[in-house]
This record gives sequence, C-alpha cells and structure tokens, in this order.
Amino acid sequence: MSVDQELHLPLMTLSEEEDLFRKTVREFAEEQIKPRVMDMDREAKIPREVIDQLFGLGVMGIEIPADYGGAESSFFMSILAIEELARVDPAVATCVDVQNTLVNNALVRWLNPDQKAKFFPRLATDTVGAYALSESASGSDAFALQTRARLDGDTFVLNGRKMWTTNGGEAGLYLLFANADPDKGYKGITAFMVERDMPGFSVGKKEDKLGIRASSTCELILEDVRVPRSQVVGEIGKGYKVAVETLNEGRIGIGAQMIGLAQGAFQCALAYAKERAQFGHAIADFQAVQFELAELATEIEAGRLMVYNTARLKENGQPFAHTAAMTKYFCSQVGERVASRALEIFGGVGFTKEYPAEKYYRDAKIGKIYEGTSNMQLKTIAANLLRS
Ligand SMILES: Cc1cc2nc3c(=O)[nH]c(=O)nc-3n(C[C@H](O)[C@H](O)[C@H](O)COP(=O)(O)OP(=O)(O)OC[C@H]3O[C@@H](n4cnc5c(N)ncnc54)[C@H](O)[C@@H]3O)c2cc1C
Repeated sequence: MSVDQELHLPLMTLSEEEDLFRKTVREFAEEQIKPRVMDMDREAKIPREVIDQLFGLGVMGIEIPADYGGAESSFFMSILAIEELARVDPAVATCVDVQNTLVNNALVRWLNPDQKAKFFPRLATDTVGAYALSESASGSDAFALQTRARLDGDTFVLNGRKMWTTNGGEAGLYLLFANADPDKGYKGITAFMVERDMPGFSVGKKEDKLGIRASSTCELILEDVRVPRSQVVGEIGKGYKVAVETLNEGRIGIGAQMIGLAQGAFQCALAYAKERAQFGHAIADFQAVQFELAELATEIEAGRLMVYNTARLKENGQPFAHTAAMTKYFCSQVGERVASRALEIFGGVGFTKEYPAEKYYRDAKIGKIYEGTSNMQLKTIAANLLRS
C-alpha cells in the first residue's frame, strides 16, 4: 500500500498487528478480569496476581524498547489496551493507563541511557510506576506545588506530601515532581525518579472512592528523602515541561478509558434490552428504547473517532494538544452520559450491584476530574482558539 493510500484510510482502520493486539487484550479482559471485577471493586484492590498477569501480557511496558524487556510498540497500542481493559474494568484500565501514558511514555523521552538501563527493565517486567504531581493545595494549579528539593552535594533532599497518586499503593517507582528553586516559580520544578524503598519515603492514606475503587489513590510522604542527582528526569528546572507534555498525552488515554467504559456499559444495556420483556414485548421492541440505544452508539462512535485521530496525530509527530483537550473533554461526557442512560435501560436492577451498570456509572465520574478537570480542558481549548 502506498503512503497516499494509507493517508486516506478510515480512522478506525487498524493494522494487522494492532487488530491482533486488540483481540488479545479483549480476550484477556473477558476471561481473566471480568470474573474478578466486583470482588476487586468491593475489596478496593487489584490483587498482585492480576498485576503480574498484566506484566505477562506485555501491557505494562508497551512503549519500552525491547532491549530493556518492553514490547517496543506504539502509543496507539497503549490506547487500544486502555480502551479494551476499560470495557471490562475501568479500574484496571487506570493502572495500565498511568503506567504507559504518564510514566513510561515520559521516561522513553526524558531518561538518559544510564537511567533507561536502570529503570526500564523493572518497569517492563514487574514494577508498577506512578506519577506524582498533585498535592492537597495544588490540583488544577499544579505548578503551585509545595514539595521541595534542596541540593546537598550530589543529592537532592526532598520534603513534602503528594496527594491522589494513582498506583501509589502498588508502585515501586514514582515519577515525582518537586520544586528545586522556588524563587524561579514553575521554572524551579524538577522531575525525579523516586524509589519506594528510599529512606524517608512512605505511602500514606489510601482514598476510599466512589468509583475505580480497585485502582489505588494514595498520599505520598517525603521526609528528607535523598535522591541522587543522577535520578533527575530531564533537566533541573524543566520538570514543568515533563509534566505538561505527559499530561497532553495522558488525556488521550483518559479519552480511551471513557470510550471503553461507555462501550462496556452500552453492550450490557443492549443485551438486557433484548432479553427483558414488559407489556408482552422485549423492551428493545419499543422505539423509545431503540432510539436511546441509537443515540448512545452514535456518541461512542464520535468519541472513538476523536481518540483514534488524536492518538494518530501524536504518533505521527503532528500537533495534538488542542485535540487531546477536546478528546478528554468530550469523551468524559460520553462516558458519563452513556453509563447513566445504560443504567436506566436496566430499570430497577440497574441500580443494584447484581448488574454491571451501577459500577460503570460510578467509574465514569472520574473522567471529568483527573488529568485536568473539564474546566481545565475548556481553558486550554479556548486559549488555543484565542491565540490563533
Ligand atoms: C481518583 C483520582 C486519581 C488521581 N490520580 C492522580 C495521579 O496519579 N497523579 C496526580 O498527580 N494527580 C492525580 N489526581 C489528581 C487530579 O489530577 C486532581 O484532583 C485534579 O487535577 C483536580 O484538582 P483538585 O482536586 O485540586 O481540584 P481543584 O483544582 O481544587 O478544582 C476544584 C473545582 O474548581 C474548578 N477550577 C479550578 N481552577 C479553575 C479555573 N482556573 N477556572 C475554572 N474552574 C476552575 C475545577 O474545574 C473543579 O471543578 C487524581 C485524582 C483522583 C480523584
């Protein structure tokens, strides 16, 4: 196929490799994750054996080069993995999303060869990663972070507290942001690789959440944690760049998660509508229910196109930050709307834990909050529009 022909392929077209990968992840999710979803939700925990299975499947190191034990695959593959896992369990998808789109993705670009040799074999084979930017007083205003890094010889001494760290409970490595020169404002922010067993580092409170309950969300405590200068990610004072770039990419991952979630909720509702009878008919025979299903399917289709298009733009090295913000903004709405309306198709049982609808509904809410709230996405979109 010529390059010209490729450029005109429909957005949903997958390469043979992508299609096979998607099928493999889908099968894994259906066979291995589905039977455990409600237990994991109830216990608010992804068991270690499930995490080991994710590593075994190769979805925890999708973009890590093969020399370090990774799959050396593409960003688009990460998007497919997140979407497929979220169809079955958005909480497991969150774990994989953070590992690939926030941690590994940043490190592929910013680590030097020595650092890659040190950290990638772990992240590709058995070590969960986490991304620690937010703090109690700095969420949307992330660069107002208060964690400090003081240089002492060849070591930075880190003090502060991080909040809301996804994978915080399971992680062995943390891509963590601290300010090494507060006088310079956000230009003092520096990214570090912090290891869980470093003296002075501890994992604090784990949040008890509405949705994605099995995904851990934790406080991190840093008390005179000595991080060697050799574990600075990128340049000193350029952490803000690492953070911004990563979050732009991460937003596509959240779009994929919300579309996978919407697809999962939709499929359950479709099956139920065909099977549930009232007034002597399957409820799917009523035009009102049919139109509801048609609207939901249309929204999912539109959202998926945005996710795939933005992921392809990123992969082709084209500007994508604007559409990434739009994608996250729109797909988180789709996730919430579809999950809510799918629950209503179930009627009363949709409101119980006997059926999966209520979990999708709870899980959907986070899409509008993390990796930049909906208002922050609108702020980005509007700023781009006004600049042009
Ligand atoms: C389950 C979960 C997992 C998370 N995982 C991570 C993680 O792994 N790593 C990490 O670093 N962080 C993580 N976070 C943090 C998350 O990114 C923040 O919660 C989010 O960015 C919002 O910050 P905040 O909670 O401080 O809300 P605030 O910033 O206080 O916002 C509160 C409200 O004010 C609005 N608002 C704020 N500023 C403006 C403005 N200028 N204009 C208009 N409206 C505004 C917001 O839109 C929102 O509605 C996670 C959070 C949750 C809940």
